[in-house]
Amino acid sequence: MESKFTEMYQKEPAEEKDGACEQVADMLDSVVDGEASADEQKFFNSHIEECVNCFESHQKQKLLKGLVSGHLKRVIVPASLVQTIKAKIQETI
Ligand SMILES: [Zn+2]
Repeated sequence: MESKFTEMYQKEPAEEKDGACEQVADMLDSVVDGEASADEQKFFNSHIEECVNCFESHQKQKLLKGLVSGHLKRVIVPASLVQTIKAKIQETI
């Protein structure tokens, strides 16, 4: 008998989502610094497309880094994207 039981039981959707948010939070710094691997980038990007919380922390982090390194003028969010996020937030609530 293999001991894959616990692994299967841990695959609850809610828990998986939490784990992804934690992973994203962990790699946030390296992604913003451009030090994340291609795989990390991919994971990160697809996650923030679906997770407004992580998307927002990414924006804040970029803004923060922008302030620190003086690239503030490059942090511009398109109005259409803002609309999409607002719509998503309303959907969730
Ligand atoms: Zn998330």
